[in-house]
Amino acid sequence: MTALCQPPASHFIDGLYIEDAAGDPIPVISPATGEEIARLHAATPALIDQALDAATRAQADWARLSGSERGRVLRRAAEIMRTNNRKLSELETRDTGKPLQETLVADATSGADALEYFGSIAAGLTGEHIPLGADFAYTVREPLGVCAGIGAWNYPIQIASWKAAPALACGNAMVFKPSEMTPLSALKLAEILIEAGAPAGLFNVVQGMGPVGAALSTDPRVAKVSLTGSVPTGRRVYAAAAEGLKHVTMELGGKSPLIVFDDADIENAISGAILGNFYSSGQICSNGTRVFVQKGIKEKFLTRLTERLQGVVMGDPMDEAVNFGPLISAAQMEKVLSYIAAGKAEGARLITGGSRANRSGHFVTPTVFADVTDQMTIAREEIFGPVMAVLDFDDEAEVIARANDTQFGLAAGVFTADLTRAHRVIGQLKAGTTWINTYNLTPVEMPFGGVKASGFGRENGHAAIEHYSQLKSVYVALTPTEAPY
Ligand code: NAD
Repeated sequence: MTALCQPPASHFIDGLYIEDAAGDPIPVISPATGEEIARLHAATPALIDQALDAATRAQADWARLSGSERGRVLRRAAEIMRTNNRKLSELETRDTGKPLQETLVADATSGADALEYFGSIAAGLTGEHIPLGADFAYTVREPLGVCAGIGAWNYPIQIASWKAAPALACGNAMVFKPSEMTPLSALKLAEILIEAGAPAGLFNVVQGMGPVGAALSTDPRVAKVSLTGSVPTGRRVYAAAAEGLKHVTMELGGKSPLIVFDDADIENAISGAILGNFYSSGQICSNGTRVFVQKGIKEKFLTRLTERLQGVVMGDPMDEAVNFGPLISAAQMEKVLSYIAAGKAEGARLITGGSRANRSGHFVTPTVFADVTDQMTIAREEIFGPVMAVLDFDDEAEVIARANDTQFGLAAGVFTADLTRAHRVIGQLKAGTTWINTYNLTPVEMPFGGVKASGFGRENGHAAIEHYSQLKSVYVALTPTEAPY
């Protein structure tokens, strides 16, 4: 019997699905049911080689097209993705366990936004004219070459699209390795790009675990590596890329502060805290998992938060009434449960949740701890699950210092009615992506990325163009060149 989501083959190289059963098996497990929904194979060195050769060939021709021609392909791909949103969302839900209610609006939709946005600005990618007295110079924005993309499991098609769209718009080709836990939807992006008119070999997908990502990070044919993943993997990929002096973008983990002042619209702040802790069962890098609430409103905040969590509907993520799904794997569930145990052991006050749900699949109940202190494990380490730590504070200077006291710097949010204070506080928070009176909204127009251990480089917005292109300067002499002899 063919598994529910079995693709025609594991890899997509040079415009075709391709299999090599010699690679290590990758069983694809539904997080909601534990059922095997597909079985793939990791790429062998020969296949990685084939993918990089195909990308190298395709890139040379693609870079010769005008920006308008490249843009047209990306915009057509965006259309195809939108037309197929439901099918893609269902695939993403089966693979990740995220509720269909979420994937219908947040995954392929966001991928299509990126293809459309970078498709639209491809034609406008110009250099500048630099007057130099009698002479002049100009700059040309050129592609980097072949880029490697390496993805995390939480937003598979979105991550693939956020990397591919700016890369291809700038004239690069890509070899993408999805997370071994969610390998399916990147293959669909590859199909869609071919259908939209991209040349064979421009966007290739190779499957595998860390070693396949490592092979891409060290190969001399790769000019740039863009990773979305954890800090330890980021260190390894950065070191490997440094050896070959490759460009890198690092989208890594976080432990972001979400600060609620006592004048905030409390219901709005709770909405932000819910989105920033429990959407995708907490498996979002930018989550505001350290919720700092000013002392005067702490108990009211906790009471209303607990009441509103009655609205959680946990269950089969394919059911559109369900708004809370399982974690990606048994291992991730165990990791999250061990953090919950640490929270209890270190003296945090458990307000709600705190256990595995009484059902099959990798479900952990939405968990809130109050009276969390800065040194507790659950306030310091990225959990990547539905665990909110509520900390209280007295004043602005104190909360800024405490919010910044972390190795991470991905995101931050401030909730207050006082906009002067909001901007003042945001100005002092060490984070790459921030929000005032909302949380976790990531429109494609807005650059996204971190500082400190959360990484560098930016995805989305015009900023992403800087990370997938380089400038060539051309000096044009209109006057004779003078030499001393
Ligand atoms: P991970 O670091 O375990 O794996 C990420 C990817 O790197 C996977 O495809 C994996 O196979 C690959 N990989 C592992 N070892 C490698 C190596 N040595 N060389 C090259 N590639 C290697 O991360 P994960 O567990 O899949 O995802 C969760 C993490 O990702 C969290 O820390 C989360 O915060 C982070 N994340 C960050 C962002 C962001 O945009 N900043 C977005 C989503 C997730």
